[in-house]
Amino acid sequence: MSERPKDQAPRFNPLILFLFIIGVFFMADWFQFRRNLQPITYSEFLADVNQGKISEVTVGSSQIMGMWKTPTKGQPPDFITPKVDDPNLVQKLTAANVKFSGAIEPSFWNSLLGWLALFFIFSLIWSVLLRGRGEGLRPGGGILSMSRSKAKVHVQTELKTRFDDVAGVDEAKEELQEVVSFLKNPTKYSKLGGRMPKGIVLLGPPGTGKTLLARAVAGEAGVPFFSINGSEFVELFVGLGATRVRDLFREARAKTPCILFIDELDALGKARGISLITGSGNDEKEQTLNQLLAEMDGFDASEGIVILAATNRPEVLDPALLRAGRFDRQILVDKPDKLGREKILKIHLKGIKLAPDVNIGSIASITVGFSGADLANLCNESALIATRRDAEAVTNMDFTQAVERVVGGLERKTRLITSDEKKRVAYHEMGHATVSFALGLGEIVHKVSIIPRGIGALGYTMRRPIEDRFLLTRRELEAKMAIALAGRASEAVFFDDISTGAGDDLDKATDIARAMVTQFGMGPKLGLAVFEREGSFNLLGQPPTRTLDYSEATAETIDSSVQELLNQGYRRARDVVVLYRDLIEEAVKILLIEESMDEKKLKDLWERHAPIRLVA
Ligand code: ADP
Ligand code: MG
Ligand code: ZN
Repeated sequence: MSERPKDQAPRFNPLILFLFIIGVFFMADWFQFRRNLQPITYSEFLADVNQGKISEVTVGSSQIMGMWKTPTKGQPPDFITPKVDDPNLVQKLTAANVKFSGAIEPSFWNSLLGWLALFFIFSLIWSVLLRGRGEGLRPGGGILSMSRSKAKVHVQTELKTRFDDVAGVDEAKEELQEVVSFLKNPTKYSKLGGRMPKGIVLLGPPGTGKTLLARAVAGEAGVPFFSINGSEFVELFVGLGATRVRDLFREARAKTPCILFIDELDALGKARGISLITGSGNDEKEQTLNQLLAEMDGFDASEGIVILAATNRPEVLDPALLRAGRFDRQILVDKPDKLGREKILKIHLKGIKLAPDVNIGSIASITVGFSGADLANLCNESALIATRRDAEAVTNMDFTQAVERVVGGLERKTRLITSDEKKRVAYHEMGHATVSFALGLGEIVHKVSIIPRGIGALGYTMRRPIEDRFLLTRRELEAKMAIALAGRASEAVFFDDISTGAGDDLDKATDIARAMVTQFGMGPKLGLAVFEREGSFNLLGQPPTRTLDYSEATAETIDSSVQELLNQGYRRARDVVVLYRDLIEEAVKILLIEESMDEKKLKDLWERHAPIRLVA
C-alpha cells in the first residue's frame, strides 16, 4: 500500500540489440528491392526482349535484372525476373540487340567475411558504449549516460525529520538515540570507550517507518544523509553497481560525520544462491554486493560514518552481510500496538480538522494490524471522504468508511446482488456476529455490514479485540473456529440449502484447527508432538510452514483430528444460532433496510436478547 513500485532499469541484451540491427538491415534491403525492381514473369520478359523494349540486362545465377528503354509511367525503370533454364537466352538477347552481362555472385566465403566484418564492427561499438556507461558517473562520460539517474546517490543535509515524527517504535528509537549521540560527537564518543557498530539494519514489515527512522536519525544528529536504494541496482551493465557503491563511500568519507542509508537492502544483498532459481544473470548484484562488503570492511567506525540499512525480508539476506564488523546490529521495527497506533494517528491528524465525535482511541482499536503507512493512508483517506461531502470537519463516520476502504478495497454499492443473495449474506454475517457475542472471548463485534466491498466479499463482520493479544488460549482458538464456522451454520439453519459464501471461513477455520493439532499440541489425539513448524519464507517465496516428516498413520490421525475439531466448532456455532434465532431474525430485518449495524446497535440488540444466556 505504501510501497512505491520499484522501477527497474530496463535490461538490454547485447544479443537482442545485435539481432535487431541485422533485422533493420534486412528490412532496408527488402524495401530497396520493392521500390526499385518491378517483378515480371519470364514470358513477359521474353516478349519485351523480342519487341525491343529492353535496353540492358544482368544475368545472375537465379534471376535476371534489367532496364527498360522507356519505363511505364508510375512503375520502376528496372525489372527482375526469375531465371529459367533457357539455353537460347544469349542468342535471343543478341538478336534483340540488348546489352547484357553476367553478375558477379558473392561466394560463400565472401559473404561470410562480410558478416564477420559486420559482427566485428558491432562488437566494437558495443564495447565503446559499455565503457562509456561504466564511467558514466563523471559528467558527460559515456554515450548512454542519459539513463544514469538509476541508483543515484541522494544527499540531503538538514533533514527536517525528527524522532517526534515517528511513533509506536519506542525501542527502536531508544537504540537509535545512541547513534545520534555518536554522530553528534564521534571523537568524544570513542574517547569514552564507546564502540559504534559500523552497520545497523532495520528489520520490519513494509510501512512501519524504517525509512522514516533513518531520516530521523540524520535529522536529529544534524548530519548529511546519503541514501541509495538496493532495488535500483538492478542495472544494465556489470560493474556499474560496484562503481556506485565505491562512489557512495567516497562521497560519504568527504563529509563525515554522516549517515549512509541503504534502503531495501534485500534487493542487493540476496543470498547468492538465489540467482540459480530466478535464473537471471546476477553477476551485477554479486559484484555490487562484494564491493559493499569490501567497503564496509575497509573503514573504521570512528571515522564518523554510520551505515544504516532497511529491509522487510531479512531471511533472504546474504549471511556475509550480517557478519561481525558489517551489519552486525539489527533493530526490529515492528507494527505498532494500540497505543502506538494512537500516537501515529495523532501525528498524521495534526493538520486535519476533526469533529468532536472522533475518538482516536477507538480508531486505534479497530485498526489492529495496520502499519504506520496504513494509518497515514487512513488519515488521508478520511479527510478525502469528508472533503467529498463538503463537510466542515472529519467525523467518526468518515473514519469508519476509510477503515473499510483501506482494509478491503473500495466500497461498491453499484454491484448488483439479488435480494435473495442479500438476505443470505445478512443471515450469514449475523451468524458470525451472534456466535461472536456468545463465545467471543475478549472481542467486541464492531460492525456488521452487507454492503459488498471489492471482489469476493459480499458482506463482513468486523470484530475488534478489547486489547492487543499475543497469546491465545485453547478456548479462544476454539471460539475463533466456531465464529468462523458460524456463517455456514446460520445459512444451514435458516435456508434449506447452503452456499459457496462460506469458502473463506472454512479456510480460516481449517487453518486454526490444523495449527492446533500440528503446532500447538492441542489436538484431541496426538498429544504434544509438533508436526509442522513455522519456518522462514523459502527461496521461492512460498508460505512459511514447514512440514516435518511423519508416518502415513500420523497423517491420517492429523486429518481426523482436524475434522473432529472442525465438527465440534460447527456444532457449537449451530447451537448458538438456533438458540438466538429471534435475535438473528430481528437483526436481519434491520440489515436488509439499513445495510449495516454499528457497535452500539448490535450491543443493544444483544442485551435485549441475552437473558437466554448460554450455559457454556
Ligand atoms: P518503511 O520504510 O518501513 O516501509 P516508511 O518509513 O517508508 O516505511 O513509511 C512510509 C510512511 O508511513 C512514512 O512516511 C510515514 O508517513 C508513515 N509512517 C510509517 N511508520 C510510521 C511511524 N512509526 N510513525 C509515523 N508515521 C509512520
Ligand atoms: Mg522504506
Ligand atoms: Zn463468513
